[in-house]
Order: sequence, then structure tokens, then C-alpha cells
Amino acid sequence: MATRNGFMDGGSWYKGNLHGHTTLSDGKLTPEQFREAYKQKGYHFIAHSEHDFFSNFEQENEPNFILLPASEVGIRMPKDDVRIFHLHVIMGTDEHLAAATKEPLKHMEPIVWPDFVGFETAQAFIDDMVARGNIVMFNHPHWSTVEWEDVYALENLFALEVYNHCSEWMENMGNSRVMWETLLRKGKKLWGTATDDNHNNYPLDSIYCDSFGGWVVVKAPELTRNAVISALLEGSFYSSTGPEIYDFRIENDEVIFECSPVERIYMNGDLRQYQIELGENITSLRKKLRGDEKFVRIECYDKFGKFAFTNPIYLD
Ligand SMILES: [Zn+2]
Ligand SMILES: [Zn+2]
Repeated sequence: MATRNGFMDGGSWYKGNLHGHTTLSDGKLTPEQFREAYKQKGYHFIAHSEHDFFSNFEQENEPNFILLPASEVGIRMPKDDVRIFHLHVIMGTDEHLAAATKEPLKHMEPIVWPDFVGFETAQAFIDDMVARGNIVMFNHPHWSTVEWEDVYALENLFALEVYNHCSEWMENMGNSRVMWETLLRKGKKLWGTATDDNHNNYPLDSIYCDSFGGWVVVKAPELTRNAVISALLEGSFYSSTGPEIYDFRIENDEVIFECSPVERIYMNGDLRQYQIELGENITSLRKKLRGDEKFVRIECYDKFGKFAFTNPIYLD
């Protein structure tokens, strides 16, 4: 009798953007404008993830809005290699920092782009960042034109950036769902995120604005870096471009899912799509497991095509 909870028991929901740029790198909003814009939109946390240096604005945290120290680092590729490896570094919990075997990153510390000589370059970079008390995500794989094998080879990643709003909105290359599914089916256990990767080259009220299009909502006991990072590491979150998710669990071999009104709910797994719920304004799915699934996850789409997805619940 499988019984698993997709989100932690108790706690509250906190909405966040894990990926954003400001005038400190190639974004157009100042750090202050970045914070204010997301706070006004009801976000609870954002990551300051400038290119190739680390920034920590935690001293400006507020009770209902916190700033995750972060950076997005690119691995320098040989000239004839069109792939891009952008690795997303976010400061871990206080426990990670205390256990770090190397010096934790400091505010405004540059992070050197290693030259790519093979997967070992990327792996050594990831391992170094983890040793310094951080967690690491692989960014926008579809936009980066990497293959699933490129990601599969890497260890010590906590997540794949499955939906990158800037890449999707501006270049139709931000959705890496197929690659995520391929990796999951091949046994690679990575959580999936949605982010903005906002650069704000256009005003916030413009159709070209790349803010507020992809986010995560974590379920955590409180709004602190420790609680948010722990929830991210445990997979206690969902990703969205619109719909809200309220429940995802397996009870006595039955999958239970609840969300805001949508048109389509799909229960996916390592097998083909085999359980669906379609209808106007549906808000739940309840389906019995077949019994041979290695994992199940849910995606739902509203009538405008906006979607939300859970992380997998593993059954093996
Ligand atoms: Zn990037
Ligand atoms: Zn970016």
C-alpha cells in the first residue's frame, strides 16, 4: 500500500523566483527595483543570481520577503562547441555552510569561469560549489542546446531548470520538459523548477516583459533561507506559470491531486501518459496506481495554456 506525500506536512506556501538579473550584471532593474517589483507581485523570496559573481543581500531580508544569495556561472566552451553550461549556485542552509570543507562564497566574490575540457570541468565546478556550502541547479538546458546525456553525466545537482520564462518568451526555447522526462525515465533523480531569468529589457507592464512568468511555490515551516532551501532539496515544492497546486499525495495506492481550476490534468510517470482528467474548471484528480510505476508526477494546464507541475513521487 503506497502512501507518500508530495509536499511536507504542515507548513505554509511561499512563492519565489530562483533566477533573476539586475544592473549588477546584464539586467535592467536595479537590485532595489527588482526586489520591489517581486514584492509587489506577492512573491515571498527571490534569488539574486547575477552572472559570474556571488551576491548576498540577506541583511535586507524582511519578515515576509527574503533574498537568497546566489550566482549563475557559465563554463567557457571551446569556440566550435555551441553548447552552454550555465550552472546556478544558491547558498545552502546554515548546516551546509557549517559543514563546508571549503571557504563559503562572500558577497560580491567573482566566480571564475572554468575552461571546458570535458564533463570533469563541469563536475569539478559543481563539487567545488557544493563543498563551499551551496546547492546547484542546471539552467535552461533546451536554450543551451545541451543533450540529455550532458546533464545525465553530472552528479551533485539538486534540480533542472525545466521552465525558463525569459528563454521561452523571447526565443521559444525555455521549456525543457521533454529532456526532464527523458532524464527521469533514465533514472536521473532531479527536481524540476520554473523560473523567470528576468533581465527586464522592457518595462514591467510590457508584453515583452520577462518577469512573473515562471516560479516555484515551496511548502515550508517558515520563510527563512534554511526552510526554503530544505524544502527545495526535499522536493517540497511545485513549479508554475499560472495554476496553483494545493495537494499531491499517494494514499493507499491512490494518487490524490488538487489545484486551482484548470482544463487538463495529466498523471505522468516513467510509463506513457495513462491517467487524465479533462473538463472545464476541474480542480482534482484521483486515480489508482497501476502498481508498476517507478514514479508519478502531475502536470495541469488551464484554458489559456498556462501550466503547473509537481515533482515526482518515487515509488521504487
Ligand atoms: Zn543562463
Ligand atoms: Zn540567467
